[in-house]
Amino acid sequence: MKEVFNFSAGPAVLPKEVFESSAAAVKNFKDTGLSILEMSHRSQEIMPVMDEAMALVTELLNLPENYKVLFLQGGASTQFLMVPYNLLDSQAKAAYIETGTWSKKAIKEAKLFGNVEVLASSAESTFSYIPKVTDIPGDASYLHITSNNTIYGTQYHNFPETSVPMVADMSSDIFSRTFDVSKFGLIYAGAQKNMGPAGITLAIVREDMLGKVKREIPTMLNYQTHIDKVSMFNTPPVFSLFVAKETLKWLKNKGGVAAIQKINEAKANRLYEEIDSNPLYKGAAVKEDRSFMNVPFVMTKEGLDAEFLQFALERGLSGLKGHRSIGGFRASIYNAMPEEGVTALIDCMREFAKLKG
Ligand SMILES: *Cc1c(COP(=O)(O)O)cnc(C)c1O
Repeated sequence: MKEVFNFSAGPAVLPKEVFESSAAAVKNFKDTGLSILEMSHRSQEIMPVMDEAMALVTELLNLPENYKVLFLQGGASTQFLMVPYNLLDSQAKAAYIETGTWSKKAIKEAKLFGNVEVLASSAESTFSYIPKVTDIPGDASYLHITSNNTIYGTQYHNFPETSVPMVADMSSDIFSRTFDVSKFGLIYAGAQKNMGPAGITLAIVREDMLGKVKREIPTMLNYQTHIDKVSMFNTPPVFSLFVAKETLKWLKNKGGVAAIQKINEAKANRLYEEIDSNPLYKGAAVKEDRSFMNVPFVMTKEGLDAEFLQFALERGLSGLKGHRSIGGFRASIYNAMPEEGVTALIDCMREFAKLKG
């Protein structure tokens, strides 16, 4: 079978090595004669998978001791409500910045729990930029941001300056670059963009964020439950956890987050250079806020979109169709997208422009 490069936004590309070790674990896990799919999460073979995954997160992000790593279910979408449930008292206020579909959804949920102040929004320009916010109310319980906007291809390259603890949805750029964790009270990410398969959600919680709201929190939605039970209060999705753990191990072997960041920047810069210099293509986001993970672009000539997608597919380039809310194309170039994939896309864009430009 010829090589296919997967540019899908999520579930997304994973390293080939991870598919190999995950397939082997399904057939016979650690020489037990059992599949990882049929083993107790409390068995002596599976417990270390959780420990290793947590240790890898701690090491790769260089987490200080007062941060707890949790593996949860329900996707980032459940974090939209778990965050205010646990952190926002009904009389208190949380600040949000609206930079796209995902932050809009987070805002909607937060309003069910307390007062929400939306400090800024780039909705009026189809979320093509990250609004600069300097006036952050000091009495907010937290400031919520979406660090990378998967659909619109914008990313915070400088986080807001504030003494208010930040909460970040990092679903589509966690482990893609280094950052100062100490500015954040809570970070969450669905795994299926940049750290594994669907079915598991990472949450990183600074301990002092918890225990401040007066309401009763249902057991499963209470971060403290999962801290106390080390993410084994109920049955975790063991296989998703294993695949995420293998992906993090792959990243560590690549040299870790700082090393992959260099590669990510190089990949993105090459692709943006092509978009900027080739008259047939145009980027969707403003230059200074462009994402290194999701690269949306459109064609400057009409009526060629379907043809380009087919042209790309014939060259082994899959998943390039843009999100329905902005159309055109989107190349998601997460950690596991090899540099050769980006080269193949650039070659394809040039070839197509020669024929149709
Ligand atoms: C995909 C995505 C989500 C939604 O994640 P689910 O795991 O499907 O709930 C939320 N936020 C961002 C930034 C995303 O990219």
